[in-house]
Amino acid sequence: MSTPLNADVIVVGGGPAGIAAVQALLQAQRRVIWVDQGLRPGGQIWRAGPPAPWALRLQTLLTDPHLQLLSGHAVIAVESQGDYRLRLQNLQQPQANGIAVQAPQLLLALGARERFLPFPGWTLPGVSGAGGLQALVKNGWPVAGRRVVLAGSGPLLLASADTVKAAGAQVLCVAEQAPRASLLGFAAQLPMGKLAQAAGLAWRLRGMPYRPGTWVSRAIGSTQLEAVQLSNGREQWELPCDALGVGFGLLPNIELAELLGCRIEAGAIAVSADLQTSLPGVYAAGECTGIGGVDKALVEGRIAAQALLGASTASLRRAHRQVQRFAELLRQRFALRPDLLQLADAKTLVCRCEDVSLGELKGQRSWRDAKLQTRCGMGACQGRICGPMTETLLGWPAGSSGRGLRAPLQPAPLHCLIDE
Ligand SMILES: Cc1cc2nc3c(=O)[nH]c(=O)nc-3n(C[C@H](O)[C@H](O)[C@H](O)COP(=O)(O)OP(=O)(O)OC[C@H]3O[C@@H](n4cnc5c(N)ncnc54)[C@H](O)[C@@H]3O)c2cc1C
Repeated sequence: MSTPLNADVIVVGGGPAGIAAVQALLQAQRRVIWVDQGLRPGGQIWRAGPPAPWALRLQTLLTDPHLQLLSGHAVIAVESQGDYRLRLQNLQQPQANGIAVQAPQLLLALGARERFLPFPGWTLPGVSGAGGLQALVKNGWPVAGRRVVLAGSGPLLLASADTVKAAGAQVLCVAEQAPRASLLGFAAQLPMGKLAQAAGLAWRLRGMPYRPGTWVSRAIGSTQLEAVQLSNGREQWELPCDALGVGFGLLPNIELAELLGCRIEAGAIAVSADLQTSLPGVYAAGECTGIGGVDKALVEGRIAAQALLGASTASLRRAHRQVQRFAELLRQRFALRPDLLQLADAKTLVCRCEDVSLGELKGQRSWRDAKLQTRCGMGACQGRICGPMTETLLGWPAGSSGRGLRAPLQPAPLHCLIDE
């Protein structure tokens, strides 16, 4: 076995939480291995690089001799606990063998992914996640002149609308499932900074139809998306369009924490006030401890790093309480309505990797049975998309106990699991 790369701390995740954590750790002269699947640090929100002043800070970090940055690498397995040894897959060089990294302390800044719910037609070409559509456009996918509908729930719909509009698309409608009263309550309780951001966004999106209490009930098309059917519970109508971005909020990425054996609570990594997980030496920060946006990620990155260094986090507690309040506001005001769980019919696919319909799944007793009998959750996404769907629709518990999570965390060639 070859010698793993060593450091004092391994930080997994290159989003805002990871960046803030790495900054604090390097300031304290810790040797850091920083692993991220992305080609460069930035995470979901800062795909093209962070804005000032974080852009400058990041540049400084990247030249620090105590840092070993492994961008384009995914953690796929845990090889030892205590002195944590993780196995990485090199996503940029598929032929390369896997490498191992080892450190006594870990900081998980794993972020979140979009939540999907099935409805007839949701797998048609032309339908994507709302954040997924935004990511495609940020990476250069041409949408100029296309007619786009965004639907689902949460502020990400508006952020996506902003991106696709700036790229020249015609946004026909943003359908937000939360009722108007909920949204007014949300706006009324926003802190000043967020209110100013929201006002700027509202100005840029002026004239764009934003429909509260509305959801997509069907995507229509023979070989690709041609229209969406929208509903407000009283009436339904069709809207011809070329692209639909749909997302029902975000779900914390917890798989690596589950594999390590960290306690999970309400779908997020359970942490103490100092962001320590249930495992000694393992800390977590950002969306993976609960959905709350970029400000929560930045504050938590700093808190987790401070706590890991054994320093006081008292000066950050107030800021943490504020971002937690915002997280709670998001949770309450964008709660999903029960109508959304009734959209899929027996023929609607739930596991799109293995083509398993809701009707087939209703004949199974558990996630395990469904895997054995139908291959649900055994395709490329390894249950990341259909697992939460079956939990919501069929009540099958997710989490390692329910889903039987094991390494590798994502499909990987065999040579990634062995050393030279
Ligand atoms: C698709 C999408 C688009 C979004 N767009 C916006 C937006 O425009 N505006 C906004 O305010 N918020 C947006 N968000 C919300 C966003 O999650 C937060 O605002 C912010 O990015 C959270 O920072 P974070 O550091 O917690 O996580 P992230 O930014 O998600 O960073 C987590 C990082 O961890 C990496 N990672 C996870 N698991 C592994 C592993 N096993 N191995 C290696 N690396 C791993 C990921 O690749 C990712 O780079 C978006 C979220 C999603 C899912």
